[in-house]
Amino acid sequence: MNTLDTLPPLRDVIATHGLAARKSLGQNFLLDLNLTAKIARAAGVLADADVLEIGPGPGGLTRSLLAQGARRILAVETDRRCIPALADIARACPGRLEVINADALQFDPRDHLSPPVKVAANLPYNVGTQLLTRWLSPPEWPPFWQSLTLMFQREVAERIVAGPGNKSYGRLSILAGWRSQAQLVMDVPARAFTPQPKVNSAVVHIEALPAPRFPADARTLGKIVASAFQHRRKMLRSSLKSLAPDIEDRLHKANIRPTDRPETVDIERFCALAEIFDKC
Ligand code: SAM
Repeated sequence: MNTLDTLPPLRDVIATHGLAARKSLGQNFLLDLNLTAKIARAAGVLADADVLEIGPGPGGLTRSLLAQGARRILAVETDRRCIPALADIARACPGRLEVINADALQFDPRDHLSPPVKVAANLPYNVGTQLLTRWLSPPEWPPFWQSLTLMFQREVAERIVAGPGNKSYGRLSILAGWRSQAQLVMDVPARAFTPQPKVNSAVVHIEALPAPRFPADARTLGKIVASAFQHRRKMLRSSLKSLAPDIEDRLHKANIRPTDRPETVDIERFCALAEIFDKC
């Protein structure tokens, strides 16, 4: 028998270690190991990869990532009550699970990981979006990770994968689409979580491209896109005016009509505009 199969059911783990869910930490646990196995499969082949798992909690997804053959997992969990429960999993898989008790927003995992690195997480939504933005925004590309398999509120997942013209298209879609390939791979109903949140969720799988689709400086593009979508109903000539007084000329050069609204402009033209800004 696989040693992971000898671990107690997650409900017993929660009872034994007193892991009553804390709202302040966004704790909505997945207790169905069939579901966590499906999420782990969405992360792809793990046998040759280090996996960075953020927010393992009682360890349902952690077990499934190990069962899926992950070479090694670095699990970063802020709630110290979960650490003994995760240590039980580490004992069942010697040398394959390192657990760090830290806030993922303050902790840099890169020194603890060997490439290729795949990230997998079921995180509270606010932390997930902050980390995603950070992982998609480094000045240099490719990033330290090869893929991200992450649970989000369904509405956020739609924003990540949306294309121009879609009401969900915005800053996250451009960040994700410029240098990676993002796909919504699984819907997860609210009832799958304990306790049950108010909204449905979805898993997004993002693969880093070897190089950006279009040339642009990440900081310049980030600045333009943030200003453009700050007021998504405004025309670009007015929302970008504070960045450059001659904005209409620059927009024309990038093949964008000054009266266009940001949601109609594709990534290629936002990148062209960023290039024009950097040449001025
Ligand atoms: N992965 C587990 C599962 O699927 O059942 C737990 C998911 S629960 C939605 C989110 C987890 O992230 C909790 O265990 C919580 O303590 C942890 N967490 C919340 N904020 C965190 C942070 N800033 N850094 C690391 N972990 C965090």
